[in-house]
Amino acid sequence: MRDLSSKIGIDVQPVYTSKKLEQDLKLKEIKPRIVNQHSVVYCFKCDLCDSNYVGYTTRHLFQRIADHRYSAIGRHLRDAHGNIDLLNESQFRMLKKCGTKWDCLVYEMLYIRTIRPNLNTQSDSIRAKLFV
Ligand SMILES: [Zn+2]
Repeated sequence: MRDLSSKIGIDVQPVYTSKKLEQDLKLKEIKPRIVNQHSVVYCFKCDLCDSNYVGYTTRHLFQRIADHRYSAIGRHLRDAHGNIDLLNESQFRMLKKCGTKWDCLVYEMLYIRTIRPNLNTQSDSIRAKLFV
C-alpha cells in the first residue's frame, strides 16, 4: 500500500490550462476592434427597445460583455425579450478610452449623469465601486 501511494505521488503531475492561450483564441473569434479595448467606459443599447446601460471595465471589453449575461443587461434581455442570447457585441459602444481606473470611474459617473441609462442601478454608483 505504501508503495502504491508513493507511486501515485510521483505519478501525479499538476495540469496547467493556459488562460492566455484561451484568450488569444477568443480574440480571433471576435473581430471588431472595440471589444479588444480595455480600460474603457462603454454604453449598452438594446436592439429591441430603448433600454441602455453605462459601465466601465479595466479588462478587455469582450470579457465584460460575457459577464453581462449575468448582470442587469442579461436580466433585461431575458425578462423583456425572453432570450439572453440576444446579447451581442454590436450593442456595445465605447464612450471613452481611459488611462486609469480612476478615470474610468469619473467618466462613467459623468456619462451616467448625462445619459441616465435605465438599466443602471444604485449598486453601480461610484461609491459602491470604490469599495469593491
Ligand atoms: Zn430591450
